Amino acid sequence: MAKYEGGCEHIRTSSESEPIDNHTCHCSVCKRVTGQETTHVVFFNHGDLSVENDSNLNRMPFNDQNPDGPLELCVCADCGTPIMLDDKQSRIRVVVPNLMGYSEDFPSASYHAFFDAASGSEQPSDGLPSYDALRPDFVWPEGS
Ligand SMILES: [Zn+2]
Ligand SMILES: [Zn+2]
Repeated sequence: MAKYEGGCEHIRTSSESEPIDNHTCHCSVCKRVTGQETTHVVFFNHGDLSVENDSNLNRMPFNDQNPDGPLELCVCADCGTPIMLDDKQSRIRVVVPNLMGYSEDFPSASYHAFFDAASGSEQPSDGLPSYDALRPDFVWPEGS
């Protein structure tokens, strides 16, 4: 078994490598797409997350208000399970562990991203740092 593995019964995703970023996302797109107040979001290097049977994915813009954006939400054509976000620029692949079939003991987030105090949201009380974007030292991998 791979170190990290998820997906549905039709399409499996897996990685032998650690994620390159692991955060709790407060952005409005995640809220809208997942229906969750916050979303545990994990970035893998694009080449690290392998996808079995990826021709069976339906792809749609992650942000329906920015359809030309780089991220695509990929869902299983057979059962509708969200499988991953894929990056048209091949920099990252994104997994939401609790919605995309990953184990409950997936490593927890290391910080809060896109936290906007002005939105009236309550400041996270778990002691983790929060930023109004991704963490400042995050570096996007080169696309391919
Ligand atoms: Zn988000
Ligand atoms: Zn499926």
